[in-house]
Amino acid sequence: MDCNIGVIRGDGIGPEIVSEAVKVLDAVGAKFGHNFKYDEILMGGCSIDATGEPLTKEAIEQAKRADAVLLGSIGGDAKTSPWYKLPADKRPEAGLLGIRKALHLFANLRPAYLYPQLNEACPLRDDIIGDGFDMLIMRELTGGLYFGKRETREVNGKIEAYDTLTYNEDEIRRIAIKAFDIARKRRSKVTSVDKANVLDSSRLWRKVVEEVAADYSDVTLEHMLVDNAAMQLVKDPKQFDVILTENMFGDILSDEASMVTGSIGMLSSASLNETKFGLYEPSGGSAPDIAGKGIANPIATILSAAMMLRFTFDMDKEADAIENAINKVLDEGYRTIDIMPAPGKDASSIKQVGTTDMGDLIVERL
Ligand code: NAD
Repeated sequence: MDCNIGVIRGDGIGPEIVSEAVKVLDAVGAKFGHNFKYDEILMGGCSIDATGEPLTKEAIEQAKRADAVLLGSIGGDAKTSPWYKLPADKRPEAGLLGIRKALHLFANLRPAYLYPQLNEACPLRDDIIGDGFDMLIMRELTGGLYFGKRETREVNGKIEAYDTLTYNEDEIRRIAIKAFDIARKRRSKVTSVDKANVLDSSRLWRKVVEEVAADYSDVTLEHMLVDNAAMQLVKDPKQFDVILTENMFGDILSDEASMVTGSIGMLSSASLNETKFGLYEPSGGSAPDIAGKGIANPIATILSAAMMLRFTFDMDKEADAIENAINKVLDEGYRTIDIMPAPGKDASSIKQVGTTDMGDLIVERL
């Protein structure tokens, strides 16, 4: 199969971790007979340096022509980088919001999976971890509070500010359908998280999710209030399969879910629209503190490439091969610095490796 992949290497560790993911994709192409073609796209700080803009029209057109985009990460150190002296809409992060909007990427998927080999990195108690957990947060990405009308104004001599949280039924329905479709490929359970005891937008959310659920009698639906969900994520994370939620609740809960797995360097993500197109990227940022040192963990980016194969190209076998290779490397005790056992834990069978070594080890085990 011919696949056109837009590649945004970005800033900081972005170019280092993307190179490893491309290396793995090339090895998958050779093994399974696919032709991955790459189109390099500028975005973020490197685009500001080259063009004065974090995301040019040409970059958006390149992304639109691709079947999928693989992104490293963008941004720099806000205290020292000259990019952060620019107005907000000219900074690196404006590129990320711009591309999500231009490509209508309304569904953000973040798996939070605890690798049994990395139990030692999980901050939860052993009895809570049990046999590990494996959940996926499905966050609505282009509506709600972050895109609603907002204003700061003076009323009767006092400054006040407001934001608005609006969803229409179509926006809720399309993300709910994505969640139920994905639950069918997993353990067939959707937990829809809202604040229906207080918010009108949540009551509409719950009603539309129930309508969608009627077409998926094989998938179990439960509703959970967001405050309870925040508690359950650390009390009993095993209960979750797919968590479906709106933009701000998803922003907060997905960070909480990622922290209980131990390292941000292991967590992939995908942002999808109504077509098969997707933007795939690690959950972490550009990690300016370790950029250029050759120690960043490339696994989240490699797992993001595996998600791309699964969701955009329907290549389940190929995605499984990447995930199995990562499991073997972890079984054999190889770790980047961020997933080394905590001080005081047994590290006798553990070997620390750098970014390119980790990529090579995964390629060898494909
Ligand atoms: P960060 O995720 O870049 O770093 C947080 C910590 O995690 C750092 O100690 C870093 O070294 C570590 N870390 C992150 N990824 C790692 C990896 N693959 N391997 C090993 N360690 C890793 O978050 P931050 O410091 O808050 O942000 C840095 C920059 O990244 C900022 O400019 C921010 O705006 C940007 N950012 C970009 C994205 C994106 O491109 N999607 C997402 C988040 C933050």
